[in-house]
Amino acid sequence: MVPSPLETVSIEASTCTRCALAEGRTQVVFGMGNPNADLLFVGEAPGAEEDRQGLPFVGRSGKLLDRLMEEEMGLTRRDCYIANTTMCRPPGNRDPKPEETTACRPWLEQKLELIDPRVVVTLGNFASKLLLETTVGITKLRGRTYPFRNGFLVPTLHPAAALRGGGAATAQMRADLVRAKLALAEVGAR
Ligand code: URA
Repeated sequence: MVPSPLETVSIEASTCTRCALAEGRTQVVFGMGNPNADLLFVGEAPGAEEDRQGLPFVGRSGKLLDRLMEEEMGLTRRDCYIANTTMCRPPGNRDPKPEETTACRPWLEQKLELIDPRVVVTLGNFASKLLLETTVGITKLRGRTYPFRNGFLVPTLHPAAALRGGGAATAQMRADLVRAKLALAEVGAR
C-alpha cells in the first residue's frame, strides 16, 4: 500500500539528525493517533518510556491525559492525534533547548499542515508558548480559547504538572479540556 503523506513524513523523520538529541535517543517519537483528527494535542518532549516505546505520552502523564480526555471529552487516543514540540528525548528528562525545539519545528509544522486539526490543545509551557508565539507562561495563558489557524487553540497544564499540583491543578486541566470540547462543537467537529 502507498504510504499516506503523514506516514511518508514519519519515515523521513525517523532518521532525523537536525539536532544533538539524535545522539542520545533510542528512537524518534513522531506522534500517534488519527491522521484525520479534528483534535491535536501537543506536548513537550518524550520521556524515558516514550523513548523506549516510540510513542508519545505512554508513561504516568499519558495515563492521566487518557483519563481526563475520556472523562471530560468522551474521547480516546483513536479520536485525536498526539505529538510533541520535540520528537527526541532530552537526556535526563531536562527541558528541550531552544535550538532543539527550533530544529524540530518544521516537523511539527508538517503535522499541522497534514493533519489540519480544527482544535489544538497545547500541554504545558513549551507547546503553549511556541504555538501562541508568546513569552507569557501557561498559568496566565490557560483558562481561555485562542483563535488558531482555521480553528482554535486551548492551552492547558502539562499532565505532569497536574500530577504534581494535585486536585486544584487537575481541576484546571479538566476545565480546559471542556473548553476544547466546546471549541470542537463550535467548529462543527466532535
Ligand atoms: N511528556 C511530554 O511532554 N510528552 C510525552 O510524550 C511524554 C511526556
